[in-house]
Amino acid sequence: MPQIAIVGSGPAGYYAAEAALKQWGAQVQVDVFDRLPVPYGLIRSGVAPDHQSIKAVSRRFEQTALSDNVRFVGNVSVGTDIGIAELMALYDAVILATGAPHDRPLGIEGSELGNVFGSAAFVGWYNGHPDFAALGPDVAARHAVVIGMGNVALDVARILAKTEAEFAGSDIVGHALETLRAKGIARITILGRRGPHQIMMTPKELGELGKLERAAPEVDCADLPEPGEDALLEPGLRKSVTLLREFAARGANRDKPITIAFDFFASPRRLLGECARVSAIEVERTAVKAGRAIGTGESYTLPADIVVSCIGYRSSPIEGVPFEEREGRFANEGGFILPGLYCVGWARRGPSGTIGTNRPDGFGVIERIAAEVTPERARRGRAGFDALASERGLDIVTFRDWRRIEAAEIAAARDGSPREKFVDVAAMIAASHG
Ligand code: NAP
Repeated sequence: MPQIAIVGSGPAGYYAAEAALKQWGAQVQVDVFDRLPVPYGLIRSGVAPDHQSIKAVSRRFEQTALSDNVRFVGNVSVGTDIGIAELMALYDAVILATGAPHDRPLGIEGSELGNVFGSAAFVGWYNGHPDFAALGPDVAARHAVVIGMGNVALDVARILAKTEAEFAGSDIVGHALETLRAKGIARITILGRRGPHQIMMTPKELGELGKLERAAPEVDCADLPEPGEDALLEPGLRKSVTLLREFAARGANRDKPITIAFDFFASPRRLLGECARVSAIEVERTAVKAGRAIGTGESYTLPADIVVSCIGYRSSPIEGVPFEEREGRFANEGGFILPGLYCVGWARRGPSGTIGTNRPDGFGVIERIAAEVTPERARRGRAGFDALASERGLDIVTFRDWRRIEAAEIAAARDGSPREKFVDVAAMIAASHG
């Protein structure tokens, strides 16, 4: 019976587990490891709290998790509690589904100033990730600058702009709701170093900006290319650009207290501060040549009391595992890293695509494993891990334990909210004991 270890219980991990069940049925044992006592990775702590329909995919992963042949092994950190080489010695195949948890660095002067955040931290904060619960952003600020023109930038701008009532039905954590209640933001500038034809924003998500209660998007007509040029775009991007044209046609926002301004052809050059806190951002005007942003030498300064950089993510390297520094992901060929070691999801291809993109990824890597790996009797798999865990005194959180945590989170929910998440590992573990 093949013994498979999957490191990471986010969408990439659970789609791979689902694929393993499809491939081998009852003839496989899959252990899904997570360093946190709670499963689902980005579904829990990355997907925006007001996008509950996307989060609902966790129900599908639950079906996989409840199979007799798949086991959740929470609260175990691979690299600390057990080494990757140890896992590889125990299991026939190890699949890294560790995602890309770190921000791509902005790398400009002033990035270390106070109230400057990467999106991994900021999104983690409002989503209750224990690593970022104490982030403490100051949103009493008037001017927010969001860097990047992808869907994460949209999430961050929307969360900064929404009223408390607009969070009804979401699972935004209490500490974030409390902080955002006191917000003083009047202008959110979304900075893109290229133009409207190069945005990475998808239409559904972009369209939401046009329907906010107290905020309105603002696009300068002069930034938009000739309408005829849209015909060459792929359909999704064309829809997004059509939305930008609609926003531009509405004119300057005079009706709502918060403006979400799109600033295209604007590359961040330097963050300026007062008393170690960000106060402004210096931006260079760009021109797009052959798809690339080229600085024009003209620069200007925007007020910025809070800055969130949403420019992409990097995976965490693991000692002994080949890593592509420039791309920020594991060196792999179609998911294969080394004999017996594979990767899926963002750990394989970098931070791109939707949740669903991980499904073919998982199925593809399992097909490779089925073709390339011959299960060996010598590999003790689950039984071997359990022996080692008990020797090391690891406090494993099982899926049954997680359901106790989940029940406590549901019981603590605000009216209309699906859950109030624990934001602290010790509290999660206490709840897992019932
Ligand atoms: P993304 O889509 O790759 O967008 C990153 C943005 O950052 C781009 O506009 C990029 O501009 C810009 N950027 C990169 N380096 C920069 C720099 N040094 N200075 C200024 N700008 C810079 O990444 P993301 O928004 O983090 O999203 C990651 C993935 O998650 C995407 O596949 C996204 O669709 C997905 N996601 C989906 C949803 C949803 O479906 N609801 C929500 C959130 C995230 P250039 O293009 O010029 O490089």
